[in-house]
Amino acid sequence: MLVKDEALVLRRTPFQESSLVIHFLTKNNGLLSVMARGIRKSGRKGSDRRGALAGFHTVNLESRSRSLVAMGTLTNVEITKARRTIPSSAAALSAAQLYLEVAYRFSVAGDARPDIMHTIETSLDLLDAGADPLELLALSLGVLISGVGYGWQAFECAGCRGVRQLTFFSIRRGQVVCQPCGQPYTERLVPITNNILKIMQKLAWPPPFGLLCVAEQAIIYRIAISSLVKAGGKMLMTDQPFRAVVGHDLFTKEGYTPTDIRLS
Ligand SMILES: [Zn+2]
Repeated sequence: MLVKDEALVLRRTPFQESSLVIHFLTKNNGLLSVMARGIRKSGRKGSDRRGALAGFHTVNLESRSRSLVAMGTLTNVEITKARRTIPSSAAALSAAQLYLEVAYRFSVAGDARPDIMHTIETSLDLLDAGADPLELLALSLGVLISGVGYGWQAFECAGCRGVRQLTFFSIRRGQVVCQPCGQPYTERLVPITNNILKIMQKLAWPPPFGLLCVAEQAIIYRIAISSLVKAGGKMLMTDQPFRAVVGHDLFTKEGYTPTDIRLS
């Protein structure tokens, strides 16, 4: 069986002495695992392929397998959209790794999700073009989360179903909470501004840069990561490294008290 598809490399697992199992996010086949034989050997052919499989590029892949269920062997791979700038910034690099982990966690073999692929590719393009990694994650993770079916509820209060004065977010409920309902529980709730609410409700794409201050970006990031962790049932390995690069203090409790936030 021959498979040709457009793909992003999500993960590389060493296999035996010289091979790799590559886990791709593909446009038409969902998550696809392919054996790249001899790829770790030296030599020019191996080195071209290693280059195509090493970064955050979009590639055209070709793989052959004996049957529908057998793992295919990579027979060709070419970069169709290179993204070479990402690795030169630590923040962009760790943000890109976070996107790939999210894609890996929520992709399924055989289940084509061109919308998710599009969001991830566009996000990587923006990172490569120098977009601010925290702002980009704040604006895009919600789009991804709702794409995989774990979106937050940002229109009605979790307590009274009211639509006014939505000033908190309950991570446990995955939903916004109004001022009167949330007031007795402020310790357990994340305060949100009107700007944050707008972004969480609209999930606009392409991302509307320039609306959020850094503290607001950090709040949406925390909410989005918490939603993903809840949906996936385990921590994201790439979350802490990203926070460390951007500055942990941004994400501490003090970092998101309402006094630090430009209220609008
Ligand atoms: Zn309420």
